[in-house]
Amino acid sequence: RALKQGEFLLHFQPKINLTSGMITGAEALVRWSSPDRGLVYPKQFVPIAEESGLIVPIGRWVLREACRQVQSWLDAGLRAVPVAVNTSAVEFRHADFLEGVALILKETGLAPRYLELELTESVLMHDAESSASVLEALKAMGVRLAIDDFGTGYSSLSYLQRFPIDTLKIDRSFVTDIPDNLDDAAITRAIVALGKSMQLTVIAEGVEHEHQATFLREIGCDEVQGYYYSAPVDAEHFERLIRENLAAKVS
Ligand code: C2E
Ligand code: MG
Ligand code: MG
Repeated sequence: RALKQGEFLLHFQPKINLTSGMITGAEALVRWSSPDRGLVYPKQFVPIAEESGLIVPIGRWVLREACRQVQSWLDAGLRAVPVAVNTSAVEFRHADFLEGVALILKETGLAPRYLELELTESVLMHDAESSASVLEALKAMGVRLAIDDFGTGYSSLSYLQRFPIDTLKIDRSFVTDIPDNLDDAAITRAIVALGKSMQLTVIAEGVEHEHQATFLREIGCDEVQGYYYSAPVDAEHFERLIRENLAAKVS
C-alpha cells in the first residue's frame, strides 16, 4: 500500500573525500512516510520487506528514484555525484535483477558510472560463484560496486580479490571508538591497508567526531560518511550541500 500510495522517500547522505573535503558521492537511504506512524526508518520495515519478498518492488522504486534524482541534478547543471543504492540478498538473487538495473538506467538516462550498488559480504559470499558472475555483468554495464558493512560478515579474501569491487565500506562498529580502542584502531588500519593494496577506495561509515576523521586521514582512508559531516537529508537539502561545498572550495 505504501508503494501504491507513494509513501516511500529517499534521503541522501554525503560521502566526503578526506583529502579535498569535497562531496564525492551520496548514499540513498529509504524512509517510509506513514500517514499514522510518521517517518519510519529502514530497520523497522526492510527486514519485513525482505521476508515477504516486497523488497523487490521497493528496491526497484529506490533504484529508479535515486537514478532519476541524480539525472535531474545533472540536467540542472549541478556538480552531480554518483549515488549508492543498498541492495539486499533477495534483490541481488532475483532472476530479473540485472535486467531491472539496465532498464532503469535506460529509462532514467543516467550514465552507469553515476550508480554504485552497495552489497554486504554475506550477500556476496553466499554462493560466491554466482555472485561473481552477477558482479561481472554489473561491472560490464559500467556500474560501480561497493562492499557495505565490511568486516562484520565473513569474507573470503580470495573472492574479494576476484570480485570486480571498487569500494570497501568499513562498518560503523569499528569506527565508533577509534582511535582510543586499540583493537578497533588496529582493525580499521588493517582494513585500510587491505583495501589500498587491492587498489580499492576505502570509506569509513558512522564518523561522528573530528578525532575519528583525523585518525582515518592519518591511516590513509580515502573517504568518510557520518553525522560529523551530515546526517542523511532530503534531496533539496542535499542539493544545497553540493552547492555550498563547491562554494567553500572556490572561496
Ligand atoms: P547502511 O547501508 O550501512 O547505512 C548506514 C546507516 O547508518 C544509515 O541508517 C545511516 O543513516 C546511518 N548513519 C550514517 N551516519 C551515521 C553516524 O554518524 N552515526 C550513526 N549512528 N549512524 C549513522 P538507516 O538510513 O537507518 O539505514 C539502515 C540500514 O537499512 C542501511 O544500513 C541499509 O542496510 C538498510 N537500507 C537503507 N535503505 C535501504 C534501501 O533502499 N534498500 C535496502 N535493501 N536496504 C536499505
Ligand atoms: Mg549502505
Ligand atoms: Mg553500512
